[in-house]
Formats: sequence, structure tokens, C-alpha cells
Amino acid sequence: MKPAEYWRRRSEEVADRQFAKADAYQKELAREYARATEEIRRSIEVFYQRYAINGEVSMAEARRQLSGSELRQFKMTLEEFTEKARNNADGRWTKQLNEVYYRVRVSRYEALLTEIQQQVELLAGSRQRRTRKLLGDVYEDTYYRTIYEIQRGTGFGATFAKVDQETLEKVLGTQFAGSNWSKRIWGDRDKLVTELRTRLAQAFIRGESAERTARELAERMGVSLSNAERLVQTETAFFVGEATFAGYKASGVVDQYEFLATLDSRTTEICREMDGKVFALSEREVGVNYPPLHARCRSTVVPYFDDEIDVGERIARDENGQTYYVPGDMTYSEWRNRYVETPNYGIMESNNSVIQRAKSIYESWDKKDRKEFADKILAESGLHLKAQLHDIPAYGQCRLDPSGTTMVVNTFELNSNDRRTHAYQIKTLFHELFHAKSHGLSHDVHQIGFRDWAYFDDVFAEAFSHYAVKEMGIFTEIAPSYARHLVETLPRLKTLPEFKNANSIADFGKVAFNYRFSENATAVWGDLKKAVDQVSFDFAKYSQAYLKYIDENGEELIDKMLENMPEQSIYKSVMMSDLRVAIESNAQGLAGRQRFLMENLLLLAMDRLGVKAP
Ligand SMILES: [Zn+2]
Ligand SMILES: [Zn+2]
Repeated sequence: MKPAEYWRRRSEEVADRQFAKADAYQKELAREYARATEEIRRSIEVFYQRYAINGEVSMAEARRQLSGSELRQFKMTLEEFTEKARNNADGRWTKQLNEVYYRVRVSRYEALLTEIQQQVELLAGSRQRRTRKLLGDVYEDTYYRTIYEIQRGTGFGATFAKVDQETLEKVLGTQFAGSNWSKRIWGDRDKLVTELRTRLAQAFIRGESAERTARELAERMGVSLSNAERLVQTETAFFVGEATFAGYKASGVVDQYEFLATLDSRTTEICREMDGKVFALSEREVGVNYPPLHARCRSTVVPYFDDEIDVGERIARDENGQTYYVPGDMTYSEWRNRYVETPNYGIMESNNSVIQRAKSIYESWDKKDRKEFADKILAESGLHLKAQLHDIPAYGQCRLDPSGTTMVVNTFELNSNDRRTHAYQIKTLFHELFHAKSHGLSHDVHQIGFRDWAYFDDVFAEAFSHYAVKEMGIFTEIAPSYARHLVETLPRLKTLPEFKNANSIADFGKVAFNYRFSENATAVWGDLKKAVDQVSFDFAKYSQAYLKYIDENGEELIDKMLENMPEQSIYKSVMMSDLRVAIESNAQGLAGRQRFLMENLLLLAMDRLGVKAP
């Protein structure tokens, strides 16, 4: 388990990102308020220029009706206002503007109030839109990054719920301290409108100057701005907290959290006192033992793990969700692409219909023309390729063109002179089908190189073919191709949660099927390669567990292996003596022919006895 300091740093980083967004919006907010305040000042100035007598406007003067030309001009202004207010979330102001528009008598005072209120309404509308966007973004980003950090930190991941529009709407409607941010913004607006009206009325009654009146209104705008800033900061903290909590629950491995006060520059007595305290997630109470504890609070929380719990084990044991390996150096965008942007990643189709349909094609096939079967399977798999049967050096091959970002598969070829039994020919057909299904998928050949890419593609093509053959109802044991690839890779894959329960080659192939045939089909092997590379493998050491079995069943295993390479049968006696040498050397330092033989026999033994992790 990673040390507590690691988790603190990761959690701070996630929270810090969000507060930086709040700070950026707060700056913008200040600019918007300054603009609105300036507009209000100008309206007052114009009003005084027109109607002031000796520098003041009496209430009686203010209450006079607009003249005919003034009214016409005011209506043009109203049209402009209505246009600008159109996108306001709250339709109330547009309605009020309409009502004023159709009145035949409007006082100077009402006209001025309308101009001032327009500024306040536009501000409130903009605050609604931007705050919604900010908080939605903060929630989503915190939620996913929290899960990402936990998965990366523990090395394992399990499927989790995505934040869709519906979830977001629900979350954004969450009440916090008896209200929610949207109601608070409208509430602020109402208060501001009322107070500006009152101050304006008082200014006329007291006969104050334009300058003084404008200053008083500006002062009140300033109070509103600091309310708005506090709201942005506090609601951001609230949604960081909610998203973190949701992320902890979704991770399936966090039961406890630690209170962390270090980001809180205004750290209050109460937050300082809470710093480092650990609580059960189930005891969480916002404002009491979970942030925010006060206005503008920047305290955050950290997942807390008891040392003795093996988190990876716990995720891997959860049978409801699919688990996967998350390498420590996987970036957030890689992770997000894989597990967020492709929904339901890793969930196996419960009734994998492609295989079911292939089976019914197989059953109705007269088992004569392989091309006929292959063409039907290719079509069923959504590929436009046609099978070609001709004399090629391999039992099967596909010509791939990885030069673009998505794979292009140009041919699907089977050997016309395949002398192996029916089961082997079908196995090869499915092996090539696996490669062929990479057509149109984005791949990482340019990142990991074609050699490594093809290596992994062959591991999974071969494993998949064993699975598919069994699914067709062919249960005879089949000696695999690519023995070295499989011997080196399957044991290491077995250490990953996805393959934890895979024992036979076909079991690995079932997972491989999902990689290439599910809705989230992939031709990207970099992450798996990375994971496999982290597990060391020593051929001689690994063989030990199977050596006795190979020794006791040597000839039968060699016969099985030769089924897949009948042209090698003439060397059977050489193989028998190679086997003696290999066994006597305890599989140490094998090379060439002897190594090749032992790899094949070892793989057969692994398939029969169960693949062990290295
Ligand atoms: Zn605090
Ligand atoms: Zn292949």
C-alpha cells in the first residue's frame, strides 16, 4: 500500500485543480460586477443631467411621466434589454420587461429603475450559467480524478458509474445548508434589486448628488460581489466534497477518510483541530466532520487505508464488477479515454452473441469447404473481407496495414494444403479472425512498435482461437501455436485481476474475445504490455512445477504437439532425446531446438494442469 503521504499529495492535487477553477471564475466575476456598476453609474449620471435642478433630483421630479419622445426612446431601450435578457435562465425579467413595454405611462424613476435592474438581472443570469458550468465541471472532474487516483494508487480498478447528464442535474440540485447555489443566486438578485431601489429612493428624498448616489449604489454592488465570491468558493468546496465522496464509494475500496486542512489558507481553529482525524465514510457529516466546515473552507479529505488490508485483493474479489489492472504511470487522459469515454469497458457480454451465431453457422455447415465457413464467419463479424485459400508458408495469415491510426486488414488467408485435422484448421481460422477483427480499430503500433504489437495480438489470437473452438463444440485437445509467446505471457497475465481466474488457454481466450469483439473492442496493447513487463519471468524456474509431469508424459505430449506440426513427425526420435537432455538439465540454459520443444511441452502441461502465476 502506498504511504499516507502519497494519498495526501494526490488528494490535494485533485482539490487544488478545482479551487484554481473557482479562483479563475472569481476574477471574472469581479470584472462583470465592475462593468455592471459602471453601467449603473452612467445611467444615474444621465438621469441627473436630464432632470436635476441645482444638482439634485427631488422625488416629485423623479416621479414625473416620461414625455412622448422620451417614452419612444425608452421603448427602444426596452427592446434592446429584452434581446439581451433573452438567454436568462429565469424568464421572470423578460416578462417584467414586456409588461413595462406595453404601458402608456412610465415615470422617469421607473425608467431608471428598469435600467439599473437590467444590469442586476444580466449579472444574475450570467452567474447562473457560469456557476452551473463551474460546479458541474468541478463535480465531474473531481469524481473521475478521485477514482483514477485510487485505481492508479492501488494498481487495480473496477467498473464504476459514469456521470451522465441526469446524474449531474440531480447532483447540481443538491441542497447544501438548507438551500442550493441556484436558489441562492436568485435570492441574491432579489435582495440586490430591493436594496438598490431603496437606496435610490432615499437618495432622491435626501436630495443627494449624482456622484454620491452612484457611490452608494456601487457600495451595495460591492457587498453583492463579495457574497457572490463567497458562494463560488464555498459551493466549489461543497461539490469537491460531494464528488470525492461519490468517488470513494464508486472505488469500492475506501471505507474511511482522513480530514486534511493544509489547503485551507484561512485555516480556522476548527479545521486545524480536525486535521489528520480519521472518520468512517458512513459517519460523514458535511459541516461537522466533512468539508466545507465554514464559508470559503478549503479543507479536503484523503482516502484512509488500514495497513493490513490489501486493496487490490479486495477489488479483485468483487465478482459483480469487472476488474482491470491500472499501471502507476497511466496518465489521467489515457485512463479517462479507456474507462470513461468507452462506457462499460470490460463488461463481458453475458450472452456473447457473435460466438453464439458463429456456433449456429458452424453447426449448419457441411464441414467441407473452409472458405464457405470462413466467409460466413467474416460476414457475421461485420467484416467485408473474403477468405482466400492458397498455398502460403503459414497455416493462416492476415495482411495488416498499420500505417494509419486505425488498422486496415487487407487479406484473410488460409493454407490450402493444411494437412492437420479439422479441429486445428478451425482453430487457425479463428486465430486469423481475431487478427482480422482489428480492422477499423485504433491501434498503438506507432507507440509500441509492430513487433510488440503483433506479439500481443498473436498471444490473444491464439488464446481466443482455443476458446472459440470449444464454443463451437469441439472438445478435442488442441496443441497451440506460438508456444513461446504463450509460455512467456500467460503466467504474467495471470497476475492481473482480469485473468486471475484463467487456468486454461481457452480461459485466457475468453477474456481476449472481450478485448476484440465486445462493444469496446481494442487493438491497443500498450497498457497490457506495460503490465506484463512489470512481472519478471524465468523459464527454467517457472518450468519446475511442471517438469515431473512432462517427464512422466513425455511421449504423449510430443505426439500431441506433432498434431499441430505433422511435417515435423519425422523428427520424433530426435525430440525424444532432446526431451531427455532438457529434463536432465532441469530445464536450465536451454536453447534452440531443445528450448523450442520444452516450450511446446510446457505449454501443453500448463493448459492441462492449470496456468500458474510466475
Ligand atoms: Zn476550513
Ligand atoms: Zn497470428
